[in-house]
Amino acid sequence: MPVVWSDLHGSHDPGGEIWVGVHTPGTELPARADAIRAELADAGAAFVDAERQPDEALHAVHDAGLTDYLARAWEDWNGAGLPDDPGQDRVVPYLFPDPSLFSGFPPTIAASPTARAGQFAYDTMTLVGPGTWEAARAALDTAVTAAGLAARGDGPAYALTRPPGHHATRSAFGGSCYLNNSAAAAARLRRDTGARVAVIDIDAHHGNGTQAIFWDDSEVLTGSVHVDPGAGWFPHFLGFASETGRDGSNRNLPLAPGAGDDAWLAAVAELAGWARERGAGALVVALGVDAAAGDPESPLRVSANGYRAAGRELGDLGLPTVVVQEGGYDLAAIGRLVREALEGLEEGMRA
Ligand SMILES: [Zn+2]
Repeated sequence: MPVVWSDLHGSHDPGGEIWVGVHTPGTELPARADAIRAELADAGAAFVDAERQPDEALHAVHDAGLTDYLARAWEDWNGAGLPDDPGQDRVVPYLFPDPSLFSGFPPTIAASPTARAGQFAYDTMTLVGPGTWEAARAALDTAVTAAGLAARGDGPAYALTRPPGHHATRSAFGGSCYLNNSAAAAARLRRDTGARVAVIDIDAHHGNGTQAIFWDDSEVLTGSVHVDPGAGWFPHFLGFASETGRDGSNRNLPLAPGAGDDAWLAAVAELAGWARERGAGALVVALGVDAAAGDPESPLRVSANGYRAAGRELGDLGLPTVVVQEGGYDLAAIGRLVREALEGLEEGMRA
Protein backbone atom coordinates (compact mmCIF):
# COMPACT_ATOMS: atom_id res chain seq x y z
CA MET A 1 0.00 0.00 0.00
CA PRO A 2 1.19 3.56 -0.59
CA VAL A 3 3.08 5.15 2.30
CA VAL A 4 2.39 8.88 2.46
CA TRP A 5 5.23 10.86 3.96
CA SER A 6 6.55 14.38 4.57
CA ASP A 7 10.18 15.34 5.28
CA LEU A 8 8.82 18.28 7.31
CA HIS A 9 8.20 15.99 10.31
CA GLY A 10 11.90 16.47 11.11
CA SER A 11 11.45 20.20 11.70
CA HIS A 12 9.57 19.40 14.94
CA ASP A 13 11.87 18.81 17.87
CA PRO A 14 9.91 19.30 21.09
CA GLY A 15 13.21 19.30 22.99
CA GLY A 16 11.82 17.05 25.73
CA GLU A 17 8.87 17.54 28.05
CA ILE A 18 8.07 19.37 31.26
CA TRP A 19 6.57 16.71 33.54
CA VAL A 20 5.73 17.46 37.18
CA GLY A 21 7.77 20.61 36.73
CA VAL A 22 10.89 18.70 35.69
CA HIS A 23 12.45 18.84 32.25
CA THR A 24 12.72 15.26 30.96
CA PRO A 25 14.18 14.08 27.62
CA GLY A 26 10.87 12.84 26.18
CA THR A 27 10.33 10.02 23.68
CA GLU A 28 8.48 11.70 20.80
CA LEU A 29 11.60 12.10 18.65
CA PRO A 30 12.26 12.69 14.93
CA ALA A 31 14.07 9.31 14.87
CA ARG A 32 10.69 7.57 15.32
CA ALA A 33 9.44 8.41 11.84
CA ASP A 34 12.84 7.69 10.29
CA ALA A 35 12.93 4.23 11.92
CA ILE A 36 9.49 3.36 10.55
CA ARG A 37 10.37 4.70 7.12
CA ALA A 38 13.58 2.64 6.98
CA GLU A 39 11.75 -0.60 7.81
CA LEU A 40 9.03 0.03 5.22
CA ALA A 41 11.64 0.95 2.59
CA ASP A 42 13.30 -2.42 3.29
CA ALA A 43 9.94 -4.08 2.73
CA GLY A 44 9.75 -2.42 -0.71
CA ALA A 45 7.02 0.13 0.11
CA ALA A 46 6.17 2.86 -2.42
CA PHE A 47 6.48 6.33 -0.86
CA VAL A 48 4.19 9.19 -1.88
CA ASP A 49 4.83 12.82 -0.87
CA ALA A 50 2.09 14.46 1.15
CA GLU A 51 0.16 17.11 -0.78
CA ARG A 52 -0.54 20.45 0.82
CA GLN A 53 -4.25 20.49 1.65
CA PRO A 54 -6.54 23.52 1.71
CA ASP A 55 -7.30 25.08 5.11
CA GLU A 56 -10.74 23.51 4.83
CA ALA A 57 -9.13 20.16 5.78
CA LEU A 58 -7.73 21.76 8.92
CA HIS A 59 -10.93 23.51 9.90
CA ALA A 60 -13.06 20.41 9.40
CA VAL A 61 -11.72 19.30 12.79
CA HIS A 62 -10.12 22.37 14.44
CA ASP A 63 -11.24 25.84 15.49
CA ALA A 64 -9.44 28.74 13.87
CA GLY A 65 -8.49 29.94 17.36
CA LEU A 66 -6.24 26.90 17.87
CA THR A 67 -4.73 26.86 14.39
CA ASP A 68 -4.07 30.64 14.36
CA TYR A 69 -2.44 30.29 17.77
CA LEU A 70 -0.22 27.35 16.80
CA ALA A 71 0.83 28.97 13.52
CA ARG A 72 2.35 31.93 15.45
CA ALA A 73 3.10 30.45 18.86
CA TRP A 74 6.85 30.04 18.59
CA GLU A 75 7.36 33.28 16.65
CA ASP A 76 5.46 35.22 19.32
CA TRP A 77 7.38 33.49 22.12
CA ASN A 78 10.71 34.16 20.45
CA GLY A 79 9.69 37.73 19.61
CA ALA A 80 9.00 38.37 23.29
CA GLY A 81 12.60 37.42 24.06
CA LEU A 82 11.70 34.44 26.23
CA PRO A 83 14.55 32.22 24.93
CA ASP A 84 16.97 34.76 26.49
CA ASP A 85 15.00 35.89 29.52
CA PRO A 86 14.16 33.75 31.46
CA GLY A 87 15.93 31.28 29.14
CA GLN A 88 13.16 29.01 27.80
CA ASP A 89 13.48 28.17 24.09
CA ARG A 90 10.22 26.21 23.85
CA VAL A 91 6.66 27.43 24.38
CA VAL A 92 5.63 26.18 27.84
CA PRO A 93 2.34 27.12 29.50
CA TYR A 94 2.30 28.20 33.13
CA LEU A 95 -1.30 29.33 33.69
CA PHE A 96 -4.49 27.52 32.65
CA PRO A 97 -7.77 29.46 32.42
CA ASP A 98 -10.05 27.00 34.22
CA PRO A 99 -13.73 27.59 33.27
CA SER A 100 -14.68 28.23 36.92
CA LEU A 101 -12.73 31.48 36.80
CA PHE A 102 -15.13 33.01 34.29
CA SER A 103 -18.73 32.70 35.55
CA GLY A 104 -19.76 31.56 32.08
CA PHE A 105 -18.26 34.41 30.01
CA PRO A 106 -15.46 33.61 27.55
CA PRO A 107 -11.88 34.38 28.65
CA THR A 108 -10.06 37.22 26.91
CA ILE A 109 -7.19 36.03 24.70
CA ALA A 110 -4.21 36.81 26.93
CA ALA A 111 -1.88 39.60 25.80
CA SER A 112 1.29 37.88 27.02
CA PRO A 113 2.59 34.89 25.01
CA THR A 114 3.51 33.22 28.31
CA ALA A 115 -0.16 33.19 29.35
CA ARG A 116 -1.61 32.57 25.88
CA ALA A 117 0.01 29.13 25.79
CA GLY A 118 -2.25 27.92 28.61
CA GLN A 119 -5.34 28.94 26.68
CA PHE A 120 -4.69 26.29 24.03
CA ALA A 121 -2.45 23.69 25.72
CA TYR A 122 -3.97 21.34 28.27
CA ASP A 123 -0.70 19.98 29.63
CA THR A 124 2.91 21.07 30.13
CA MET A 125 4.41 18.15 28.19
CA THR A 126 3.62 19.25 24.66
CA LEU A 127 6.20 21.88 23.83
CA VAL A 128 6.25 24.11 20.77
CA GLY A 129 9.56 24.88 19.04
CA PRO A 130 10.60 26.68 15.84
CA GLY A 131 9.40 24.01 13.37
CA THR A 132 6.48 22.56 15.31
CA TRP A 133 3.70 24.23 13.33
CA GLU A 134 5.17 23.29 9.94
CA ALA A 135 5.55 19.65 11.03
CA ALA A 136 2.09 19.43 12.61
CA ARG A 137 0.50 20.94 9.52
CA ALA A 138 2.48 18.55 7.27
CA ALA A 139 1.34 15.57 9.38
CA LEU A 140 -2.28 16.59 8.90
CA ASP A 141 -1.63 17.03 5.16
CA THR A 142 -0.07 13.53 5.15
CA ALA A 143 -3.14 11.95 6.76
CA VAL A 144 -5.57 13.78 4.48
CA THR A 145 -3.54 12.89 1.36
CA ALA A 146 -3.70 9.23 2.41
CA ALA A 147 -7.44 9.50 3.02
CA GLY A 148 -7.90 10.93 -0.46
CA LEU A 149 -6.04 7.92 -1.93
CA ALA A 150 -8.07 5.42 0.12
CA ALA A 151 -11.35 7.10 -0.82
CA ARG A 152 -10.61 6.53 -4.52
CA GLY A 153 -11.08 2.82 -3.89
CA ASP A 154 -7.59 1.72 -4.97
CA GLY A 155 -6.96 -0.03 -1.65
CA PRO A 156 -5.68 1.05 1.74
CA ALA A 157 -3.15 3.83 2.33
CA TYR A 158 -0.80 4.45 5.24
CA ALA A 159 0.03 7.93 6.57
CA LEU A 160 3.41 7.96 8.32
CA THR A 161 2.52 10.94 10.48
CA ARG A 162 4.65 12.67 13.09
CA PRO A 163 3.91 14.39 15.46
CA PRO A 164 0.98 12.13 16.42
CA GLY A 165 -2.52 13.58 16.69
CA HIS A 166 -5.16 11.60 18.57
CA HIS A 167 -4.94 13.57 21.84
CA ALA A 168 -5.62 16.95 20.12
CA THR A 169 -9.19 18.26 20.44
CA ARG A 170 -11.00 20.82 18.30
CA SER A 171 -9.59 23.72 20.30
CA ALA A 172 -6.71 22.39 22.44
CA PHE A 173 -3.43 20.50 22.09
CA GLY A 174 -1.71 18.09 24.46
CA GLY A 175 -0.31 14.59 24.87
CA SER A 176 2.50 15.27 22.35
CA CYS A 177 -0.23 16.03 19.76
CA TYR A 178 -0.97 19.39 18.09
CA LEU A 179 -3.41 18.66 15.25
CA ASN A 180 -5.61 15.57 15.04
CA ASN A 181 -4.40 13.72 11.95
CA SER A 182 -6.73 10.71 12.35
CA ALA A 183 -9.75 12.99 12.77
CA ALA A 184 -8.79 14.98 9.66
CA ALA A 185 -8.47 11.71 7.71
CA ALA A 186 -11.91 10.65 8.93
CA ALA A 187 -13.44 13.98 7.87
CA ARG A 188 -11.90 13.59 4.39
CA LEU A 189 -13.14 9.98 4.05
CA ARG A 190 -16.60 11.08 5.15
CA ARG A 191 -16.63 13.90 2.58
CA ASP A 192 -15.29 11.82 -0.33
CA THR A 193 -17.20 8.57 0.23
CA GLY A 194 -20.40 9.88 1.83
CA ALA A 195 -20.25 6.77 4.02
CA ARG A 196 -20.36 6.50 7.78
CA VAL A 197 -16.74 6.39 8.96
CA ALA A 198 -15.32 4.41 11.87
CA VAL A 199 -12.11 5.48 13.60
CA ILE A 200 -10.64 2.50 15.44
CA ASP A 201 -7.82 3.60 17.73
CA ILE A 202 -5.43 0.84 18.80
CA ASP A 203 -2.79 3.10 20.36
CA ALA A 204 -1.97 2.17 23.97
CA HIS A 205 -3.60 5.41 25.14
CA HIS A 206 -7.19 6.56 24.81
CA GLY A 207 -7.88 8.63 21.69
CA ASN A 208 -9.51 11.40 23.72
CA GLY A 209 -9.10 14.13 21.11
CA THR A 210 -10.81 12.09 18.40
CA GLN A 211 -13.58 11.11 20.81
CA ALA A 212 -14.18 14.77 21.71
CA ILE A 213 -14.14 16.01 18.10
CA PHE A 214 -16.80 13.53 16.96
CA TRP A 215 -18.77 13.18 20.22
CA ASP A 216 -21.93 14.74 18.70
CA ASP A 217 -21.46 13.31 15.21
CA SER A 218 -23.20 9.97 14.78
CA GLU A 219 -21.80 9.65 11.23
CA VAL A 220 -18.26 9.23 12.57
CA LEU A 221 -17.95 6.31 14.99
CA THR A 222 -15.02 6.44 17.38
CA GLY A 223 -13.74 3.34 19.17
CA SER A 224 -10.61 2.97 21.26
CA VAL A 225 -8.83 0.12 23.08
CA HIS A 226 -6.26 1.38 25.57
CA VAL A 227 -4.76 1.01 29.01
CA ASP A 228 -7.33 1.82 31.70
CA PRO A 229 -7.09 5.49 32.73
CA GLY A 230 -8.60 4.40 36.04
CA ALA A 231 -5.35 2.52 36.73
CA GLY A 232 -3.46 5.82 36.57
CA TRP A 233 -2.63 6.22 32.89
CA PHE A 234 -2.82 9.16 30.47
CA PRO A 235 -5.22 10.82 29.65
CA HIS A 236 -6.40 10.07 33.22
CA PHE A 237 -9.72 11.95 33.01
CA LEU A 238 -11.05 10.21 29.90
CA GLY A 239 -11.25 6.81 28.22
CA PHE A 240 -13.78 5.09 30.48
CA ALA A 241 -16.34 2.61 29.16
CA SER A 242 -19.17 4.88 30.32
CA GLU A 243 -18.30 7.48 27.63
CA THR A 244 -20.61 6.46 24.80
CA GLY A 245 -21.06 9.66 22.76
CA ARG A 246 -24.25 10.84 21.15
CA ASP A 247 -26.44 7.93 20.05
CA GLY A 248 -23.81 5.46 21.25
CA SER A 249 -21.36 6.50 18.53
CA ASN A 250 -18.33 6.23 20.84
CA ARG A 251 -16.94 3.03 22.37
CA ASN A 252 -14.12 2.71 24.89
CA LEU A 253 -12.54 -0.61 25.87
CA PRO A 254 -10.04 0.01 28.69
CA LEU A 255 -7.65 -2.83 29.54
CA ALA A 256 -5.78 -3.59 32.76
CA PRO A 257 -2.04 -2.82 32.81
CA GLY A 258 -0.16 -5.94 31.72
CA ALA A 259 -2.84 -7.08 29.26
CA GLY A 260 -1.37 -8.95 26.28
CA ASP A 261 -2.46 -10.37 22.93
CA ASP A 262 -5.54 -12.29 24.09
CA ALA A 263 -7.36 -9.44 25.83
CA TRP A 264 -6.16 -6.81 23.36
CA LEU A 265 -7.13 -8.78 20.23
CA ALA A 266 -10.53 -9.61 21.72
CA ALA A 267 -11.08 -5.85 22.17
CA VAL A 268 -9.90 -5.08 18.61
CA ALA A 269 -12.33 -7.74 17.31
CA GLU A 270 -15.13 -6.24 19.40
CA LEU A 271 -14.49 -2.77 17.96
CA ALA A 272 -14.37 -4.18 14.42
CA GLY A 273 -17.68 -6.02 14.97
CA TRP A 274 -19.23 -2.88 16.45
CA ALA A 275 -18.16 -0.80 13.42
CA ARG A 276 -19.65 -3.42 11.10
CA GLU A 277 -22.96 -3.59 13.02
CA ARG A 278 -23.23 0.20 13.00
CA GLY A 279 -22.87 0.34 9.24
CA ALA A 280 -19.39 1.81 8.82
CA GLY A 281 -18.52 2.22 5.14
CA ALA A 282 -14.97 3.54 5.58
CA LEU A 283 -12.27 3.06 8.20
CA VAL A 284 -9.47 5.01 9.86
CA VAL A 285 -7.07 2.92 11.92
CA ALA A 286 -5.28 5.11 14.47
CA LEU A 287 -2.20 2.91 14.66
CA GLY A 288 -0.20 3.39 17.81
CA VAL A 289 2.37 0.65 18.33
CA ASP A 290 3.04 1.67 21.93
CA ALA A 291 0.79 -1.16 23.20
CA ALA A 292 3.72 -3.49 22.44
CA ALA A 293 5.61 -5.16 25.26
CA GLY A 294 8.81 -3.20 25.75
CA ASP A 295 7.43 0.22 24.85
CA PRO A 296 8.56 2.79 27.44
CA GLU A 297 5.22 4.65 27.46
CA SER A 298 2.74 1.89 28.28
CA PRO A 299 2.31 -1.25 30.41
CA LEU A 300 0.43 -3.28 27.76
CA ARG A 301 2.21 -6.37 26.44
CA VAL A 302 1.09 -6.91 22.85
CA SER A 303 3.45 -8.91 20.56
CA ALA A 304 4.47 -8.29 16.95
CA ASN A 305 2.22 -11.22 15.99
CA GLY A 306 -0.56 -9.48 17.88
CA TYR A 307 -0.17 -6.39 15.70
CA ARG A 308 -0.27 -8.57 12.59
CA ALA A 309 -3.46 -10.27 13.83
CA ALA A 310 -5.04 -6.88 14.59
CA GLY A 311 -4.22 -5.77 11.05
CA ARG A 312 -5.92 -8.90 9.66
CA GLU A 313 -9.02 -8.32 11.81
CA LEU A 314 -9.37 -4.72 10.59
CA GLY A 315 -8.53 -5.56 6.97
CA ASP A 316 -11.24 -8.21 7.05
CA LEU A 317 -13.83 -5.40 7.30
CA GLY A 318 -13.05 -4.84 3.60
CA LEU A 319 -13.60 -1.06 3.78
CA PRO A 320 -11.78 1.87 2.17
CA THR A 321 -9.09 2.22 4.84
CA VAL A 322 -6.49 4.75 5.87
CA VAL A 323 -3.99 3.84 8.57
CA VAL A 324 -2.63 6.86 10.47
CA GLN A 325 0.47 6.61 12.63
CA GLU A 326 -0.01 7.60 16.28
CA GLY A 327 2.34 6.58 19.13
CA GLY A 328 5.12 4.01 19.47
CA TYR A 329 8.39 4.90 21.21
CA ASP A 330 10.66 1.84 21.26
CA LEU A 331 12.96 2.90 18.41
CA ALA A 332 14.38 -0.60 17.95
CA ALA A 333 10.91 -2.17 17.55
CA ILE A 334 8.46 0.32 16.04
CA GLY A 335 9.42 -0.23 12.39
CA ARG A 336 8.75 -3.94 12.58
CA LEU A 337 5.53 -3.46 14.56
CA VAL A 338 4.13 -1.08 11.95
CA ARG A 339 5.18 -3.41 9.15
CA GLU A 340 3.42 -6.37 10.83
CA ALA A 341 0.22 -4.36 11.27
CA LEU A 342 0.20 -3.16 7.65
CA GLU A 343 1.01 -6.60 6.21
CA GLY A 344 -1.73 -8.09 8.41
CA LEU A 345 -4.19 -5.51 7.08
CA GLU A 346 -3.32 -6.44 3.49
CA GLU A 347 -3.75 -10.14 4.32
CA GLY A 348 -7.14 -9.44 5.91
CA MET A 349 -8.30 -7.56 2.82
CA ARG A 350 -7.25 -10.36 0.48
CA ALA A 351 -8.95 -13.07 2.58
ZN1 LIG B 1 0.01 6.31 22.92
